[in-house]
Amino acid sequence: MSLKTLPKSTQSRIGSEQVITRPENVVKELVENALDAGAQSIDVRVVDGGLKEISVKDDGTGVLPEDAPSLAKAHTTSKLSSFEALPDVRTYGFRGEALHSIAQSAGKLIITTRTSDEAVGRSYHFNQNGLVTDEGSCAHPLGTTVVVKGLFQKAAVRRQDTISKKFGTSLASHLQSFRVITPLHDEDATYSENGLPDQTVQIDAVLPKANADVDVVTKTTPDRIFVCVNGRPLTVKNKFDKALKKVIKMIKDAFLGEAAGRKDPFVWLHILLPPRLVDVNLEPNKTAVAFNENLIMPCVEKLIEQAFPPKHLPGTIALID
Ligand code: ADP
Ligand code: MG
Repeated sequence: MSLKTLPKSTQSRIGSEQVITRPENVVKELVENALDAGAQSIDVRVVDGGLKEISVKDDGTGVLPEDAPSLAKAHTTSKLSSFEALPDVRTYGFRGEALHSIAQSAGKLIITTRTSDEAVGRSYHFNQNGLVTDEGSCAHPLGTTVVVKGLFQKAAVRRQDTISKKFGTSLASHLQSFRVITPLHDEDATYSENGLPDQTVQIDAVLPKANADVDVVTKTTPDRIFVCVNGRPLTVKNKFDKALKKVIKMIKDAFLGEAAGRKDPFVWLHILLPPRLVDVNLEPNKTAVAFNENLIMPCVEKLIEQAFPPKHLPGTIALID
């Protein structure tokens, strides 16, 4: 066999197939781009385990009109200008490969974006070589939405592999998010120095959907319980204080019922309550906090009610008198 140099397009396609081997790689790359663009809020939508559509919408800086045509070209990045600058890179991305690889692995790549200088957004369709084939203006809030359709459409083996692996079903499509706000429980009125009536407890949560696949939400990541209190991450589960342990157990029981003893489902919680009611000084490194569980119970109960409504049993008849 004689040696041949592969055509550029083949070299590049082989490269992409190493970057994007599964739908979750696409989600990760797009979320990192959103974070790099300074997003505060990111919406991820996954249809059919990511094979049909993945969309990631952010409220970041957006992409300038002059930069947009190059977004999905190979080795094109705004984050690194020279090899020497590498140690100073503070962004997730810098290789300028992700969007190009995604374009090559997808049936369609559509990016819609608007910067703060513009009144309307712009939408760009990219072909598999990362070149713009179509563009136009459209309504879009400040930021960027990347839509990837028909992932692995032309890579039959990889597509089949994704379908056959159960966990190819992205975790994100089994989760739901909530924000629940309740007034502070009466009992703590005595704690209050200024007696403000507007004191509230807020819980932001990402929990399994009531009908989520139990295997996906209990096996996908090894550490599945993430809790923040007033912005402070408390990652070590065995250091949760009594109140947090109780909250986690309530959520676990509500979702898993009898199976709850053995498994932890994915749970992400951010609990916000008046700082004066939170003791953060339990440990020198401040990885534990304590608060009176009664403060947050009404909020937790409301959260559970919304996330896991009691099942309507078939054949149940409501009696009205
Ligand atoms: P990298 O992140 O390594 O630079 P990518 O291929 O992921 O490479 O992205 C290429 C470029 O496209 C980025 O450097 C950035 O300038 C721009 N970009 C990608 N996604 C976004 C986004 N969500 N918001 C703003 N700009 C983006
Ligand atoms: Mg990137």
